[in-house]
Amino acid sequence: MQWNDRPIRFVAGLHGNEKAPVRALESRGLRFVLGNPRAYERNVRFIERDLNASFGVEDGSYEALRAAEILRKIGEKEVVVDFHTTSASSVPFAILTDKKMLPLAERIGVAYAVLMTHNIKKGHALINFRDGISVEMHGYDTEESFQATLHVLRALSEERSVPVRVYEVYGVIKELGDYENFTEHPDGFTPVLVGEQSYDFIGLKARRLG
Ligand SMILES: [Zn+2]
Repeated sequence: MQWNDRPIRFVAGLHGNEKAPVRALESRGLRFVLGNPRAYERNVRFIERDLNASFGVEDGSYEALRAAEILRKIGEKEVVVDFHTTSASSVPFAILTDKKMLPLAERIGVAYAVLMTHNIKKGHALINFRDGISVEMHGYDTEESFQATLHVLRALSEERSVPVRVYEVYGVIKELGDYENFTEHPDGFTPVLVGEQSYDFIGLKARRLG
């Protein structure tokens, strides 16, 4: 598949326990990069450190070495669609680190895109090093995220644009409370990724962009 005359490169399993997208891509016979094979085999998120926070890191860890290997596999002319799953109860959404990838987010049939310029990976995510987007879907290894992956693949092959609501992350939620992802909180922010167990915060604060 292509986008703007650039080959699309699918990536899944950057986190080893996020299995549904891997199974979905395999079920369609599509080529993709399996992010963290060792962690995938053990059904754990990572071996030594978060691979999707290891790009451009040189600490000799398994994940830092694997990140460098992945960057050698994926050319700069390619665009990445990098599938993730989350424990957060949420509709599927795209993550961008650069607004110029918004037209790609509009091609995958999701309702929301979240711009993480100052992201939680501190600039060491795959999409900080290659053009592209990440996609977050609910359920590490569930039918819901399996189907959500197939939905993205179908949308990409149909080559139609669907407008998305765009949010920008600007802070973290630290206090327990009653939050619903993508529903504006009375305090004026929109929660994103509330319910994700892998981080040491409750969720992210985002604002709607015009
Ligand atoms: Zn992930």
